[in-house]
Amino acid sequence: MLTLACNRLRIVFTFAASRKKGQCYVYAQCTHRTLTFSTIFRELRINSIRLQCWKCGCEIQASSLICSHCNTLQKPDKRSNYFHVLGIKEGFQVEDRELRTKYRKLQNILHPDRFSAKNADELEISEQYSALVNMAYSVLLEPLARGLYMLHLQGINLEENTTETDPQFLAEIMETNEELAMAQNPDDVRRLENANKSMMNKLTRDVANAFSAGNSDAAKQGLIKMKYYSSIGTRIKELKQKTGIE
Ligand SMILES: [Zn+2]
Repeated sequence: MLTLACNRLRIVFTFAASRKKGQCYVYAQCTHRTLTFSTIFRELRINSIRLQCWKCGCEIQASSLICSHCNTLQKPDKRSNYFHVLGIKEGFQVEDRELRTKYRKLQNILHPDRFSAKNADELEISEQYSALVNMAYSVLLEPLARGLYMLHLQGINLEENTTETDPQFLAEIMETNEELAMAQNPDDVRRLENANKSMMNKLTRDVANAFSAGNSDAAKQGLIKMKYYSSIGTRIKELKQKTGIE
């Protein structure tokens, strides 16, 4: 048996050494939530890391943006993932409002204008940090990009040319693409747009459930399907712009 701490609930749980996943028993009993080793270790590690300020050498927490001793902006920690960069709980279900609030707050702190009167090093760090925050925000805001990023954190990378092989699904996609090519008027385009949004919402819920259950394979299958509907969404947007449909 192995023993590990659940960092979110602050409890200790045990599981068979032969199992690949450590299941927090409280989550398992109450919400069926499974924590993978990588998630647990990453959170334990990030929360316990203490660093030194690059300027004054004082000890600071990894999550500190500004050194409390010398008031200097810290360099982004290379080991942090996008969730840590924005200071939000790691998981597929993200509150858009919380994400936006954290993003704006960080960009306000990191705005290069605040550092232009300081030394060149700090100005450069603020620009690099700001670019990182922008990237983290754009990835975590979109469910498809967020899901792919979460798989990437688990060591699963979807190749560009990963395709769905279910013939029924492919037939539906082909049919939708044909309907889009034939769309004659704004009502047709809006109907296709609404149908596409519904599919994206349904798949987003499926992927959220898969991640909550610790089922990476089901999440991956859902994300592959989402890529097709995302492409259709892009085509609809382009068509609307081209034809001036509001
Ligand atoms: Zn300092």
